Amino acid sequence: MKLDLGTLNRWNPGDQDFIAFDHQACVGCSACVRACVAGIWSMDKAGEQASLAPDYRQRCLECGACDQVCEARAIHFCYPPGGTGVIFEQG
Ligand code: SF4
Ligand code: SF4
Repeated sequence: MKLDLGTLNRWNPGDQDFIAFDHQACVGCSACVRACVAGIWSMDKAGEQASLAPDYRQRCLECGACDQVCEARAIHFCYPPGGTGVIFEQG
């Protein structure tokens, strides 16, 4: 059976931030980049700091992994307000 991933979820992006990133606390370990399956985190050109994609509200899968792996506590994830964010329709 061929699975069409595009039918498994949809997004209803809100306008409120649900990920807070403390640039000053970031130590550049890149754990968030490796953990995020949605590719929302990246490192700056110098490889010293993480960066949160500006369109994360439209792409975040709300797994919370970035928050969990950041030992520097530079990332704080909380779920977006009800009715917004990713909506898993199957599974
Ligand atoms: S996991 Fe935390 S400390 Fe490491 S790069 Fe990401 S934000 Fe910075
Ligand atoms: S919550 Fe998950 S999908 Fe969203 S930015 Fe963090 S690691 Fe990526």
